[in-house]
Amino acid sequence: METLRDDGDLFTGRMAVRPLNVIIIGAGIAGLTAGLALAKTGHSVTILESVSRIAEIGAGIQLAPNASRILHRLGVLDEVMKETSVLSRVSIRRYDSDEELNSAPLMPSIGDRYGAPMGVIHRGDLQRILLNAAKKSGCQVITSQTVMAADPSFSRLQVRDNKTGTTSWFLGDVVLAADGIQSTLRKQMVLARGHKDQPTPTGDAAYRLLIPRERIQHDAMLLKILDQDVAMRYMGPGGHIMAYPIMRNTVYNIVLLHPAKTTAKGADNAWTTKGSRKEMMAFYSSWSPAIKAWLEYADEEILEWTLNTYPPLPSWVQGNVALIGDACHPMLPYVAQGAANAMEDAAVLMTAFTCTADVPLALRMYEAVRKERAEKIAASAAATGKSLHLHDGPEQQKRDEAIRNAGTKSLEKIDDRDDKWRDASWQDYMWRVDVMRETVEKWEELTAVPEKQPTPRYKMLSGYSSTLLSRILRAIRGLLWWWPS
Ligand SMILES: Cc1cc2nc3c(=O)[nH]c(=O)nc-3n(C[C@H](O)[C@H](O)[C@H](O)COP(=O)(O)OP(=O)(O)OC[C@H]3O[C@@H](n4cnc5c(N)ncnc54)[C@H](O)[C@@H]3O)c2cc1C
Repeated sequence: METLRDDGDLFTGRMAVRPLNVIIIGAGIAGLTAGLALAKTGHSVTILESVSRIAEIGAGIQLAPNASRILHRLGVLDEVMKETSVLSRVSIRRYDSDEELNSAPLMPSIGDRYGAPMGVIHRGDLQRILLNAAKKSGCQVITSQTVMAADPSFSRLQVRDNKTGTTSWFLGDVVLAADGIQSTLRKQMVLARGHKDQPTPTGDAAYRLLIPRERIQHDAMLLKILDQDVAMRYMGPGGHIMAYPIMRNTVYNIVLLHPAKTTAKGADNAWTTKGSRKEMMAFYSSWSPAIKAWLEYADEEILEWTLNTYPPLPSWVQGNVALIGDACHPMLPYVAQGAANAMEDAAVLMTAFTCTADVPLALRMYEAVRKERAEKIAASAAATGKSLHLHDGPEQQKRDEAIRNAGTKSLEKIDDRDDKWRDASWQDYMWRVDVMRETVEKWEELTAVPEKQPTPRYKMLSGYSSTLLSRILRAIRGLLWWWPS
């Protein structure tokens, strides 16, 4: 945390202009961060979550500086960092030979550069910390509640209690739909606007593996990899792999990108679909010995996640309802910004309601600060996938040569317009931002009273000359009055 720099003054003690009754749909990373942020600043917050128990599901997610800066301001970064693996570098490799093309430093250089730390954490750990902090701040979290729909005016929510099967209506001053990639409210908003919300398959899918330390106890090569705080990135034809240790080096997290089956069902149950171990082994059979060794230790049942892109929505807001997180900007994993952008949404909304209690205005500010940025990042993730999956040939050789030639330069000097995660200027865009400050600035811009301008000299002159002119005209008129006709 030595790398943390924050001019917190702008944000400490900021409270709601007027406490509102806020309803949040979904207790994922977006919903919980928003719940924590809004409860902390004085609002009355209720989160409705459809599952019966918030279990610690998921795998590793990256915590970039734009996310850790927000978690710090919400008072949970210390606890989050206890569960975060801080990686020193990312090793970029050829898929088959294990050759390291280059190695790019991560921490502490990224932290020094952006004033906030970077690391990787299990989604479940992050979710648990946010849940506890949100509850401690007074946020009410009710499980087994599925939001079925909003009424046509988007002012009330129809909610089914999954335990009793009964349905009731909820009403809030503001509703935040943080109900993920399959968002019910997004579908309803889109329908109401006559817009099409069809996912487009990218043609890629990802296996997600978590391999516990106990399983590789006797494998010296893999133990060494698990114990080094290094992320491994392998690039191969039609796929790539990102792997790193999480949970204090007790679990190895591997995400394996590969071509999706043509029969893949699209976005349904994106995070929990079962994949075939046999198919996984077949696809990576020509990859490096280290990779194949890891795959031998995979569970019999593996999870596969089909990757789709969604077109940008015309708006994220309808009445007093706003979409947040994956509900409005689902992202491919290639720039590792899904969770971080969900936290940005929460931070902006919180800050907007410390500027104004006017709900439509605050939601407009939220959309103005967040929509374009999130959509650009989502688009950059889609572009990056292409560069990582080049088939062997001239383009791949050119890419690898550029990576090799970056030499021992630090990450900040590498410009790679195709691989956005490594591109220095794109990192600046993703990680340097302070969205809370931007929200305050947006408010100042909206409420700025135009300064009284000093009267320009030409106006004074024209004023003077017009007086002179009228005097002359009056004199002429006087002369004309007695002029003989
Ligand atoms: C099970 C799971 C595992 C994941 N694993 C990873 C991972 O390994 N790596 C990674 O990078 N990202 C993972 N993600 C995605 C990552 O969490 C998100 O991209 C990011 O954190 C933004 O999340 P979100 O809160 O917007 O949506 P989500 O994390 O999807 O949360 C949405 C929440 O809303 C609830 N919900 C949905 N519909 C309703 C409804 N109608 N009524 C009430 N509640 C509802 C869901 O149960 C869920 O808790 C996972 C997501 C899920 C749900």
